[in-house]
Amino acid sequence: MPKTIIVSNRLPVKIKETDSEYQLVPSEGGLATGLGTVYKQNGNVWIGWPGQVIEPDKTEQVTSQLKELSLLPVYLTQEDISEFYEGFSNDVLWPVFHYYASTYTTYNPSHWEYYKSVNQKFKDVILENLEDGDTVWIHDYQLLLLPALIRQVRADVSIGFFLHIPFPSHEMFRLIPWRNELLEGMLGADLIGFHTFDDVRHFLSSVSRLLPVPISSNIITSGERTIVVESFPMGIDEKKYSGLPQTSEVKEQALQIQDIFIDNKIILSVDRLDYSKGILQRLQAFELLLNDHPEYIGKVTLYMVVVPSRDTVASYAYLRDQIDKKVGNVNARYRTIDWTPITYYYRSLPIEMLSALYSTADVCLVNPMRDGMNLVSKEYVASRTNNDGVLVLSEMAGASKELIDALIVNPNNVTQVKDAIIEALNMPLAEQQRRMSQMRQLVAKFNVKHWVHIFMERLQEVKLMQRSMQTRHVHSVTAKSIINRYRGTSKRIIFLDYDGTLVGFKANVNQASPDAELYHLLTQLSSDPHNQVVIISGRKHDNLGDWFGDKNIYLVAEHGAWFKEQGSDWHKINGLSTAWKKDLYSIFEKYVDRTPGSFIEEKTYSLAWHYRKAEAGLGELRANELMNTLKFLATDKGLQLLPGDKVVEVKNMEINKGKAALSLVEQTDYDFIMALGDDFTDEDLFKALPDSAITIKVGTGASLAKFFVRNPTEVRGILASLGESVPVS
Ligand code: UDP
Repeated sequence: MPKTIIVSNRLPVKIKETDSEYQLVPSEGGLATGLGTVYKQNGNVWIGWPGQVIEPDKTEQVTSQLKELSLLPVYLTQEDISEFYEGFSNDVLWPVFHYYASTYTTYNPSHWEYYKSVNQKFKDVILENLEDGDTVWIHDYQLLLLPALIRQVRADVSIGFFLHIPFPSHEMFRLIPWRNELLEGMLGADLIGFHTFDDVRHFLSSVSRLLPVPISSNIITSGERTIVVESFPMGIDEKKYSGLPQTSEVKEQALQIQDIFIDNKIILSVDRLDYSKGILQRLQAFELLLNDHPEYIGKVTLYMVVVPSRDTVASYAYLRDQIDKKVGNVNARYRTIDWTPITYYYRSLPIEMLSALYSTADVCLVNPMRDGMNLVSKEYVASRTNNDGVLVLSEMAGASKELIDALIVNPNNVTQVKDAIIEALNMPLAEQQRRMSQMRQLVAKFNVKHWVHIFMERLQEVKLMQRSMQTRHVHSVTAKSIINRYRGTSKRIIFLDYDGTLVGFKANVNQASPDAELYHLLTQLSSDPHNQVVIISGRKHDNLGDWFGDKNIYLVAEHGAWFKEQGSDWHKINGLSTAWKKDLYSIFEKYVDRTPGSFIEEKTYSLAWHYRKAEAGLGELRANELMNTLKFLATDKGLQLLPGDKVVEVKNMEINKGKAALSLVEQTDYDFIMALGDDFTDEDLFKALPDSAITIKVGTGASLAKFFVRNPTEVRGILASLGESVPVS
C-alpha cells in the first residue's frame, strides 16, 4: 500500500543521553500532533534529523529505536549543523525571510555548499525508502532544494511542500545570491503551501521575475508539470488546548496563579527567544504604560515566558542579554514592596503550566515583528473556554489574517501597542465574549487535522489534474491516432494561428517573421492537393500577404476581416462601422503616454494596445485598468475586448475567427478538420468548428480545445509528421 513520507529538518523526538545510552522521547509540537495521525499509520514514516550529533558507533542503536516510532533518521555531522543549519538556514534564510537582512548579512559560499550537501543527504534517505505510489510531504526552509532533488530521480512521485515561515517580498528574496536555485528547488513539488495569501503572492512574484516559467494565476508550468501554489493557514490541536483547562492538574495550577496575582491583571506573553518576536518592543510598550499611566502600577503584571532557542548563536545570546537588562531595569524602576511589574521566565514550561497560564491570563500579548503563523495566539484562544480574555495581536503574524477579532496592532508602533493593552485591560466582558467566541469557532474548525486533510486532499487533486492534462497532451499516442485519421482522409482543411502557434512571441511584432523551417513545413503540407492550409491570424492583412501571399495557402487576417484565396487578391468584409476607433484611439493614447514601452497597432476593424516591452507587472496592471475602462464602452458600441498575450485588443463583435473559419468549412465537404491556436481569439475558432474537428490549444491554460501542446516547437512536430506521412506529390 502506498505510504506518505513526511520530511522535516527535525524529527518529532527529543533525545536524552543517560549513562552513554540514548533515550527517545516523542515531542508533541504542533506539526507532530497534526501529522501524528498521518505518520503513525499505514506504514507512513517521518524522515529527519534526530536533533543531535550521534556517535557513529551508536547510530545503529538509535536507528532501530527510532524505527519503532516510524521515524527514519538523517544523521548530520557537527560541521553540517554549524554550516547548513546555523550558517545558511538560520543566518541567511531566516533573517531574509523575516525581513531582517541587512547590508551586514554575509552570504558565505561555504554555508551554501553545506546547504546543498545536507539537502542531498535527506534526498538519499528518502530515495532509500521511496516506493511507487508514495507521497512525499516536505517541510520548511531548511529543505528548499529537496523537492527538485527527488523529482530529478523520480519524475512521477507526488510531492507536497509547505513553508512554515513567511515568504518575503521579491525585493528581499532577490538579495540571496542563490535565489534561482532555491526557487527551482521548490518547484520540484506539485503543491506548494504557505500560511497566508501574502506569502503566496510574494512567492509567485519572485518566480515570475526570476524564472522563465509561465504562470497563470496560482498555477506555474514547469516543463511537463503544472504546480499549484496555495495558502493553507496552519491550525493547532484545538481539542487538546480546550480540554486541558478542565483537567484537575491545570485547574489546580490556575488557582495557584490566581492566588499569587490576586489583585493583578495578567498580561501573558510566550515565545521562543528570537529577534523576530518583538520581545524588546513589548518591554518598551509595557514600560511606556507604567510611565504614562501610573494608575496601573501595582495593578498589572507582564508574565513573560521566553523559551530558550539558538542561544549559542551570537545574535541570540546578545538578544538574551538585552532582555535581561531591560527586564531588570523596568523591575528595578517600578517595583513596589509587594508587586513586581514583570515576571520573567527563560525556560520551557510543561504544557499543564502553559495551559494554566493561557486560561488565567486576562490579556495575551503577541507582538512579533514578523511571524509565519504564530501558534501561541491560537493556543490562547482555544484555552479560553469561558469566551473571556483579550488577544492583542501583531498584524505581522500570519495568524492576524484569521484572528481578525483580536486587537490588531503594528508592533513597530509602541504607542499603539501600549494603547491596545489599555483597551484590552478595560474591555467590557460582553465585548470580550463577542470577540473571543468568534475566534474560538475559527480555531476549532481550522485545526491542525483540518490543515493536514485539506493539504493532502489538494495534493491529490493536483496529481489528478496533471494526469488529465497528460491525457489531453498530444504526445506520441494521440499524435499517431491523428496521423492515422489524416491518412484515411482526402479533403482536409487545417487552420493555423500564427503568433504563439507557429512561432514564439518576440519583443517586437516584426521580429516574429517566418523562418526557413516554417516555410518548409508549410510548403510540404500545402503541396498535398488533398490539403487546404489556412493561416488564420489577428495580424494585418498586408503583413500576412508579404510573408505568405505567394504560397499555396489560404490567408485570413485581422481575426476574419480580410480573406485571400491562393492566387487571388485580398478582399475584406464590408459594411462594418469603424467610427468607434477614433474615440478609443484617444483612450489608448493615454495608456501609451503613461506606460513606457507600450504602443498602439491599428487594423481595419480593430485597435490593439501592446505592452510586451513595458516593465514587468506594470504592463499587466495597466492592461487591467484599460480593460475596466473599456468594459462598458465596448458593450455599448458592439465591440469585443480581447485580452491576449501582452496585448489588449478591441474589435468589431461581428468579426471573429469562428465565423471566418465556418465560412470556409461550409464551402466544401471536408472529412478532416484541424485547428491549432494559442489565445483567446482561437477559442472562437474551437467553438465554431464541428464536433469532429481536431482542436489543439498551444499552452496549458483553460480551453475548449480537445487537446493541447506546450509550445510552437511541438506544433511544428505535428505539422512535420503530417507532412511526411503522405508523400508530397
Ligand atoms: N511552547 C513550548 N514550550 C514552552 C512554551 C511554548 O513548546 O515552554 C510552544 C507553544 O505552545 C507553541 C510553540 O512553542 O506551540 C511556539 O510556536 P509559534 O508558532 O508561536 O512560534 P515559533 O516558535 O514556531 O516561531
